[in-house]
Formats: sequence, structure tokens, C-alpha cells
Amino acid sequence: MTEVISIIASGLKCDNPSCDYINEDIPQEEYINYINAKCPKCGSVLLTQEDYDAMQEFHNLVAELNKLDLPVTEDKFIMDIESDGKGNLTFKEKE
Ligand SMILES: [Zn+2]
Repeated sequence: MTEVISIIASGLKCDNPSCDYINEDIPQEEYINYINAKCPKCGSVLLTQEDYDAMQEFHNLVAELNKLDLPVTEDKFIMDIESDGKGNLTFKEKE
């Protein structure tokens, strides 16, 4: 079965807006090990429990949507998902 929605998640970005730290090498399965981990550059928390929970909820929602067997079209939308450290996810269309 083709998944209508797929999530490709990897890497962690510092939530501090004035910090540019990003680690692209963290696979999604390892996020759980990074909850409350500190940014090596500025000491901010890289991944809060709230953000992690929000991501898990989103994954569950997508898994449910994919079970509905929605028609797959040629149209593709690629979105960037960002979290703000407070458990809010924002979706941005990727340029
Ligand atoms: Zn930082």
C-alpha cells in the first residue's frame, strides 16, 4: 500500500532563535535519547518533552490517515515541520 502521507524526519535544530546549531545526523528513532539534551553551542534544550510528544501525536495521526486508503494522486506537497519547544508544530511549504 502506498502511503498518502509520509514523514521524513531527521536531525535536530536548536530552538533558540539566535542560535544556528543544527545536527542533521540524528535519526528519528534516536530522538527519544535527546529529550532535554542541551545544545552544545548555547545550552538551550534541543528537544523538549512537549515537542517530542507533539511529534509522536502527529506520527500517530498520519498513521491513522494512511490507514484510510485515500486515493494517491500525482500531486505532491512537501512541507517542513518545525517545533517551537512548547509542543506546537508549524508547517511550512518547502521552497
Ligand atoms: Zn543553541
